[in-house]
Amino acid sequence: MLSRRHFLRLTGTTLTAAPWLSSLLAAPGPAPFQTIRRNVGVFTERGGTIGWLASRDALVVVDTQYPATAATCWTGLQERTRRAADLVINTHHHGDHTGGNPFFEAHTDRILAHDNVPGLQRQSAEQRGNADTQVYPTETFAAEWSESFGDETVRLRHYGAAHTGGDAVIHFERANVVHMGDLIFNRVYPFIDIDGGASTPGWIDVLEQVHDDFDDDTRFIFGHGHPEYGITGNRADLLAMRDFLSGLVEYVQSGIDEGQSVDVLADRQVLPGFEEHYLEDWSLALGRCIRAVHRDLTSR
Ligand SMILES: [Zn+2]
Repeated sequence: MLSRRHFLRLTGTTLTAAPWLSSLLAAPGPAPFQTIRRNVGVFTERGGTIGWLASRDALVVVDTQYPATAATCWTGLQERTRRAADLVINTHHHGDHTGGNPFFEAHTDRILAHDNVPGLQRQSAEQRGNADTQVYPTETFAAEWSESFGDETVRLRHYGAAHTGGDAVIHFERANVVHMGDLIFNRVYPFIDIDGGASTPGWIDVLEQVHDDFDDDTRFIFGHGHPEYGITGNRADLLAMRDFLSGLVEYVQSGIDEGQSVDVLADRQVLPGFEEHYLEDWSLALGRCIRAVHRDLTSR
């Protein structure tokens, strides 16, 4: 058995200049490909978890990581079906979910995301100076979208501002598998992208809505996760994330009410009651979440 520390090193938890671009992978196992149910599964290498539907009659890919890992993913998908991709979906605009779009552009005519994604992607790329390398969605949706691929129906829904201003939840209806994108950082500190339209109270509300829209049989895919909790789970994990965000809002709001400065509030590694979220090798510190929530609450 590998020690946990050794495992973390092996699975590449390297920090980058833009920390939300790094990621953790699922627990050790037959990674990077894992089937969840029917012909729906995940691919994990670096960046947000890729979801896929692969059969003789359909190939749908959810999120694209980075060009190099997108190529690895594509090689594996072509062992499952020889099709071009009928559809590529971006759950939101972040670089570790859209960075592989330039690779996938050669293998699909269609990249789908929420209406707000192209604008947010452009704004973020301009700030980082890589606007010229972006490949944007070719089509967008506002509130709901649905289409059949082979024997599966894929349904997208935007519940409102949460992790960003353009998050999509993707349901593979027959498999009853839902890709949550970065609406779930499973027991690790999340990136709360205020500049990208995030809302912490909105995020709490969205998780409750999604929880209520599905059932105990639904399997969920998460953008990122603690190695001990994984990048897949059930709807109870949605409420665990909601509880963490609620705890965070409560902590920051009571600090504001007591007149404490954001610097004092942010000087913490662990939120009481949520000790399991702390992970030494995780690139997003709790202090960063606290600053984001503080900004969110004080700008309202
Ligand atoms: Zn994200």
